[in-house]
Amino acid sequence: APAPPPARHLFSDPAEVEALRRNLLAWYDRCKRDLPWRTLAATEPDADRQGYAVWVSEIMLQQTQVATVIHYYNRWMQKWPTLQALAQASLEEVNELWAGLGYYSRGKRLQEAARKVVSELAGRMPRTAEDLQKLLPGVGRYTAGAIASISYGQATGVVDGNVIRVLCRLRCIGADSSSPAVIDQLWDMANVLVDRSRPGDFNQALMELGATVCVPKSPLCRECPVKQHCRAWRRKLFGKAPPVPDIEDCGVGDCPLCPPATEPWDSSLGVTNFPRKAAKKPPRAMRTATCVLERRGCHGAPEYLIVQRPSSGLLAGLWEFPSLPLAQDLQEENEREELADHLQAWMGQPVAAKGLLFIGEVIHIFSHIHQTYVVYSLHLDGDVTLDPALSPSRWVTEDEFHASAVSTAMKKV
Ligand code: SF4
Repeated sequence: APAPPPARHLFSDPAEVEALRRNLLAWYDRCKRDLPWRTLAATEPDADRQGYAVWVSEIMLQQTQVATVIHYYNRWMQKWPTLQALAQASLEEVNELWAGLGYYSRGKRLQEAARKVVSELAGRMPRTAEDLQKLLPGVGRYTAGAIASISYGQATGVVDGNVIRVLCRLRCIGADSSSPAVIDQLWDMANVLVDRSRPGDFNQALMELGATVCVPKSPLCRECPVKQHCRAWRRKLFGKAPPVPDIEDCGVGDCPLCPPATEPWDSSLGVTNFPRKAAKKPPRAMRTATCVLERRGCHGAPEYLIVQRPSSGLLAGLWEFPSLPLAQDLQEENEREELADHLQAWMGQPVAAKGLLFIGEVIHIFSHIHQTYVVYSLHLDGDVTLDPALSPSRWVTEDEFHASAVSTAMKKV
C-alpha cells in the first residue's frame, strides 16, 4: 500500500478544522451570492422537489459559468418545475431549451434519470450520495455529494474544480491535481472538513470561495476568510525561507503531494503555484464542410434546411445544416465535390459543385476539438423532395432556426 501522505498536507488538527469551518461558514452567511437554486432549495418544503432543484442546478453548472446558467435554470424550472413534469417532456423539447448551454448529453441524461425516478422509484429521490450515484444515470460522485449534502443534510464532502483549487492552496498540494491519487486525497480531505451540522452550506461555501475569492488568477488572499489556515498564503508571505518548518516542501521527489522536483516553487507565481496539472493534450483539429441550403417558402420568406444529428456522440440529436467531416489535407475543389455528393444524397438530384458558393470559415472550440466549419450556401429554385430514408430533416425560417435545438456552433455558421 502507498505510504500515507505527510501530515503537513492534511487537516489533522481538530481545533484547526473547527476554526476553519467556523470562519468559512461565517463568511458564507455574510457574503454568499443570491442564486435562484439557493432560493428554491431554501424555500421548497417538498424534499423531492428540493433535491430536483439542486440536481438541475448542479448538472447545468458543470463546465458552465454561473452567469450563463441562471437564465437557463429559470426557464427550465418554469417549464418543468417537478421531476414528473420533466419525465413527460420530449427529448426534442429538452434539447431546444438546452441549446447554447453546451455538453448536450447533460440535458438528455437529466431527463432519462427523471423518468427513472418517476417510473422506478415512485417519484422519490434517493436520499444519500451513495444511492444517488448508484441509481441515477449521469449523477457522478460530485453531483451525488452536492444533492445529498445540500438537500438531505448528509455530512459528505464534494470535490469540484473550485474545491480542488482551494484545497491544493490551503495545503500546498503541487502534485498533478488531475491524477487519481491526488483526487482521492482531496476527497478524503473534503470528507474530513465538511461541517457536520451544516454540510450543504459548508460545501457551497467552499465552492463559493473558489468561485469568488480563491479564483484561478489573482486570488483575493487579503480578503480571504481562511487565510490563516492557508499554507500557500503563508509560504507567499514568508518567501523562500519560511520560519515555520511545516510549510516547506516535504522533500524532493518522495512526497506524493508536493510539486515535482523538476517544477519547484516559483516565487513570482505566489499562491497560484497551486494547483498544478499535467499539460493538457492539445485539442484535435477537425474540418467540416457545411451547406446552408436556402429556398423560398410558401409565404415568400427564405427557408433553410436543417437535419438532425445521430442520437449518440458529439451534439447528439441536435439539428444542423447538412454537414460533412472532411479529411485534413483536402484541396478546396475536392471539398466542394464531396459536399456536392453529400447534398445529392439528401436531395435525390444532382448538385453541381460549382453552384456551391463559398461563404467563409467558422471556428468553434469544443472541449477537445478545434472545429473549423467551411461554410457554403446554395439557393434552390425548384421544389426538392428530401429522401425520407435519411436522418430527419425540415425546412425552417430564420426565427424557427433560432428556436430549434441547434448548437452554438451552428448559430455561428
Ligand atoms: Fe486561496 Fe489565498 Fe485564501 Fe489561500 S489565502 S485559500 S490562496 S484566497
